[in-house]
Amino acid sequence: MKEFMQQTFAIIKPDAVAKNQIGDILAVTEAAGFKIRALRLTQMTRKQAEGFYGVHRERPFFGELVEFMTEGPCVLMCLEREDAVAKWRETMGATNPANAAEGTIRKHFAESVGRNCVHGSDSAENAAIELAYFFAGSSLS
Ligand code: ATP
Ligand code: MG
Repeated sequence: MKEFMQQTFAIIKPDAVAKNQIGDILAVTEAAGFKIRALRLTQMTRKQAEGFYGVHRERPFFGELVEFMTEGPCVLMCLEREDAVAKWRETMGATNPANAAEGTIRKHFAESVGRNCVHGSDSAENAAIELAYFFAGSSLS
């Protein structure tokens, strides 16, 4: 990876996969300048989803969040570009689609604050942790 490049971890969540929006979301992703460095379709186990969203364990929506993330397959990705963490958050839009800016993925594809079609790491440190969580053992170059 070139020095100025950064990687982030992204998910196309089960709501968007069920609605056949993988291709549309990947098109927006590539148009926003991201290189897809790894990609895997998988259905998360309860244990994986609980571990992944462990920081939210005490939140009232935790049970609903784990149910949602395990209800069907999702797409796990490693995305790369300059300033990838911040740029992917920008490309996704706000957590609640009602607050998301025009042209963002969540504005266009998300149903609600809970079923919001994509995930993105919130820091470079968490990107490294999340990439290791789902892509351990595979080579991310
Ligand atoms: P993500 O971590 O999935 O990229 P985010 O960083 O924008 O989203 P977080 O605050 O980390 O938002 O919340 C994690 C996820 O929990 C949200 O994406 C959403 O699916 C769910 N969530 C957050 N707030 C609520 C809420 N008030 N009600 C229901 N679900 C929620
Ligand atoms: Mg988050």
